[in-house]
Amino acid sequence: MKYSDLVAVYAELEQTTKRLEKTAILASFLKKTQESDLDMVILLLQGKVFPSYDEAKLGVAAKLVIRAISTASGLTPAKLEQDWKKTGDLGLVAERMIHGKVQATLFSQELMVKKVFDNLKKLSSLSGAGTVDQKVKLLSELLTSAKPEEAKFIVRTVLEDLRVGIAEGTLRDSIVWAYLYQGNIEEKNQVENREDYKKVVEAVQEAYNATNDFATVAKAAKKGLPAVQDISISVGSPLQVMLAQKETTIDDAFSRVGRPAALEYKYDGFRMLIHKHEGKYALYTRRLENVTAQFPEVVNFIRDNVNGSNFIIDAEAVGFDAKTNQYLPFQHISQRIRRKYGILELAKKLPVELNVFDVLFLNGKSLIKEPFSKRRDTLAKIVTERPKKIILAHQLITGENKDAQKFFEAAIKAGNEGIMFKALDAPYKPGSRVGHMVKFKSAMETLDLVIVGAEWGEGKRKGWLTSFTLACKDEDEFKEIGKVGTGIKELEEEGLSFNELTETLKPYILSGKGKEVRIKPHVILEIKFEEIQASTSYGSGYALRFPRVLRERTMEKGLKDVSDLDLVKRLYAQQKKV
Ligand code: ATP
Repeated sequence: MKYSDLVAVYAELEQTTKRLEKTAILASFLKKTQESDLDMVILLLQGKVFPSYDEAKLGVAAKLVIRAISTASGLTPAKLEQDWKKTGDLGLVAERMIHGKVQATLFSQELMVKKVFDNLKKLSSLSGAGTVDQKVKLLSELLTSAKPEEAKFIVRTVLEDLRVGIAEGTLRDSIVWAYLYQGNIEEKNQVENREDYKKVVEAVQEAYNATNDFATVAKAAKKGLPAVQDISISVGSPLQVMLAQKETTIDDAFSRVGRPAALEYKYDGFRMLIHKHEGKYALYTRRLENVTAQFPEVVNFIRDNVNGSNFIIDAEAVGFDAKTNQYLPFQHISQRIRRKYGILELAKKLPVELNVFDVLFLNGKSLIKEPFSKRRDTLAKIVTERPKKIILAHQLITGENKDAQKFFEAAIKAGNEGIMFKALDAPYKPGSRVGHMVKFKSAMETLDLVIVGAEWGEGKRKGWLTSFTLACKDEDEFKEIGKVGTGIKELEEEGLSFNELTETLKPYILSGKGKEVRIKPHVILEIKFEEIQASTSYGSGYALRFPRVLRERTMEKGLKDVSDLDLVKRLYAQQKKV
């Protein structure tokens, strides 16, 4: 396929913000795409060259892109930087520069999708000193053969900032429209609530949740619905975890999952999906990042105490105080997740206990369709408990409110966040929030907000980003809702620190003016607050009174999980009633 065909689709998508129109554009494009191109095209449509679970990253900085544009266009980096400051989009800069020298490229070859894809992949395989020149060469080679609009999208892909806004749901629906549902757009608009249509969409979503790979799903969809329904989880490939609904009374929790139910401590730790595959162990976060290297002791706990030639186990790793044995809140172990050096020392200083609560795959067989009670029995058979290393999640089976209340109090006393209610007869649904498990916490509602700006500190906070501008989500946009500086620590030992947060944010800085910087939405914080106020100061129309950072949640949550404006509005209305 020619790269220009894909670029035409990007351009069309850029023209509309309407979900149904985007779906139609994508569907007709997918229909035309040959099977051999599907893997590449589906990733590139999402602005990626690696599936989200792959650790490989493009890792290309703006400075390197400027050098490549400079090589391809003959313009100086200084001139390009100037233009970049004005537009805030290096893609546009590339487009204009290439436009200026269009004559020279008149005879160059047509750029193919495969060439773009391969060169971008090669970029990521180069790392370390002395590879910068090679990277510049690979990229400038592409830009030299690109037409202006192609250059724009190559640069945006490299910087992982495609700006054409395809949400996961849109891509999913377009696969349905392309292969599994016939009819024109007007009709499709009306079928969204029809049971048969919903069933097909659900099957596609489930297949995606099990594989995290839309290309695999699309290829199956091409064969028909049964092929999609046949897709299941497989050991070694990360899958999305099942999520919990929330209830605020014990009665409501029971009515969601049925009586009796399995009640478990809700540990305030870090979700871990553990795979044993071909003798090797891999630990994935809820966002499918591989954290095996950061938790070597957990690998040992599993190796020594879990039986099975291959398996997938769902668990929560919880920090505890080595002296008092009390559980510690999540932020105490948050440093462990990104640590690249001194891992063993940190593991000693901030130990974790693995609380296992589910088994999804064992000895070559998926167990997700089996009832939870049976999965838990299986888990108990394969795990040898070792307190402060690996234990089964503390569980009580009951249908009584009284017992549930007591269990909840005991959970809080032991340093947990609350309890979970789980339906005994329910299957495991990867990636879904279907209500097979319900969380019941004592704390008030918090918001998960994304950082879109910050300020450089002064005096003793020099070199750190300090005040952080937060945004909530409104469809595909982010709208500001306030600034926060409270709750972040000056010392690393005390939890999430300014230094740690600054280092995390640095790669996402888009531009700066004086003390202020604009930040590409990526890093998510859980925020507590006293009250929500109506406000004209922020784009959302609301502001938070006394916001405070509880913890960073980027490892667990993606941009699609950022709290949305509807929730803010609901909470605002609720507090007015009280
Ligand atoms: P979301 O509902 O989007 O997950 P959240 O991350 O704020 O929002 P939590 O309040 O963290 O939700 O509740 C769900 C999380 O609780 C799970 O993802 C898991 O990490 C954790 N958890 C702790 N103990 C258990 C348990 N026994 N069973 C299942 N999950 C548990």
